[in-house]
Amino acid sequence: VPALELRGVERSYQQGPTELRILRGIDLAVMPGQSVALIAPSGAGKSTLLHTAGLLERPDGGDVLISGYSTAELNDAGRTRLRRNSIGFVYQFHHLQPEFSALENVILPQMIRGLSRREARQRGEELLTFLGLGQRFGHRPNELSGGEQQRVAIARAVANAPHLILADEPTGNLDPGTSDHVFGTLTALVRASGLAALIATHNLDLAARMDRRVTLRDGHIVELD
Ligand code: ADP
Ligand code: ADP
Repeated sequence: VPALELRGVERSYQQGPTELRILRGIDLAVMPGQSVALIAPSGAGKSTLLHTAGLLERPDGGDVLISGYSTAELNDAGRTRLRRNSIGFVYQFHHLQPEFSALENVILPQMIRGLSRREARQRGEELLTFLGLGQRFGHRPNELSGGEQQRVAIARAVANAPHLILADEPTGNLDPGTSDHVFGTLTALVRASGLAALIATHNLDLAARMDRRVTLRDGHIVELD
């Protein structure tokens, strides 16, 4: 079963008298353990697609399925619950809580989801260690480098997302060497944990290292190479 499946997803925006048809029937399935690069020019509808896939926006037509589970009939509370339990977001800027340590940043959202402190801590320590941050548990975000901060943000997203990671230019804010390293740890984590990942990027070198590459053309998904 795909971790994420978009079936005939449509989304338009009204701009004055004109209707902008941004997504015109998106069909896309991402399997567990698979990473898909979404490469598209600015304005093509990448954010709209990620927000729709992440259940932050409702499509006007079609369906978004999370691990085979249709969301078309869910109310807002159901969508929020599914999002919190299944989907992790990684942005260009990390949005870590500045007053908390790296480990606490990963632990706290898990506790809010209902895990015990012990379970959350164990998972947080495992993830941070996997991402090469075993010596950084107690550091606050401003005591970490940009690449380390972004790896903490990845650990936090993954800790909260047993199924799917959606990322929008997750390394767009980093220098090329750091970007390469952070990206490598992200894709390794996706494979190791059987997550699915849909990652919007303009970086073709990074995209080349993912399992599949797709673009948006006239509101449709087109598979590249
Ligand atoms: P991308 O992320 O690829 O740059 P977006 O998905 O943000 O593109 O936007 C695609 C198009 O839809 C753009 O032309 C944008 O102006 C338009 N758009 C996005 N959000 C809205 C909105 N809330 N209302 C009206 N138009 C929007
Ligand atoms: P919480 O209230 O626990 O932070 P939410 O269900 O509101 O969780 O959001 C889940 C994820 O979606 C978070 O990673 C959050 O950053 C992201 N998110 C929420 N609202 C928006 C939005 N309008 N645009 C982009 N991301 C959002």
